[in-house]
Amino acid sequence: MKKIILCLAVILTVLIASFSPTHGNTPTVSVQGSPVPGGTLFVQVGLDENSNAGTVEFAEMTLPLQVEKGVGKTILPVPLDKKPGDYDLKITISGSSGDSAHHRVIPIKPKKYAVQYLTLPPSEEDKYEAPGVVAERAAIEHALKTVSKKYTWWGSFIWPVDAGISTEFGIKRYINGEDAGRHWGFDLPAPEGTPVKATNCGTVLLARSDFTLHGKTVIIDHGIGLTSLYIHLSSISVKPGDLVKRGQVIGRVGSTGVATGPHLHWGVYVGREAVDPRMFMHLPKSWQ
Ligand SMILES: [Zn+2]
Repeated sequence: MKKIILCLAVILTVLIASFSPTHGNTPTVSVQGSPVPGGTLFVQVGLDENSNAGTVEFAEMTLPLQVEKGVGKTILPVPLDKKPGDYDLKITISGSSGDSAHHRVIPIKPKKYAVQYLTLPPSEEDKYEAPGVVAERAAIEHALKTVSKKYTWWGSFIWPVDAGISTEFGIKRYINGEDAGRHWGFDLPAPEGTPVKATNCGTVLLARSDFTLHGKTVIIDHGIGLTSLYIHLSSISVKPGDLVKRGQVIGRVGSTGVATGPHLHWGVYVGREAVDPRMFMHLPKSWQ
């Protein structure tokens, strides 16, 4: 199962566009990744010695370039609800002579996601109406919006538990006949108590044991808008502010919150948008 998924990931990560300078102040731009809804764009911009900062804007989201050794890098999400078509990618470069803006066209291709119909018993459904649910959702959203200026992750992400995927990323869900949005991550079934590992280096943003829907929850900030989410845990072994290494145990698999059995729900977000986590397990070459 996992082998098939890994092969797909290799196919998905492609060079989307490469733009070379046409005149003096036009930067070299490389865009790699998966140009489909739920995909991620990996953007690199060649900068001259007078440029020290910049941003990239795509699909109503602006994220900073991390500049190092004359190269600016950032990642951008393609939102799950984005319709296929040509979209503007705007790069703004700041330097000693002011700001300059550069535009590129990125073609977004269609991607179909499956539909799932779930039935929950009333005891589980009632949790959606529980006091504190609004604050719970707000706390998670606030954490996932975090954009730290420096990326703190290195190399490809790892699986947080050694398990197959029981529910795929991006599927459309109906719970008891009602629209329940998308499934914004992978469900990885594993026995209660299985260690859950941080999928890359980062800083713990949120570690909460009092959530009704998500259960015991950890969110890690990996920098430049990239975060990972681990929910339904039976226990948590980190606290906000902790620096974690890739592979470090952050908690254990459970079924807290709304869950039909022990499993880890693992989500990866770029600038608050959920993206297919497998994009980060096989990074484009210059990002490895
Ligand atoms: Zn899930």
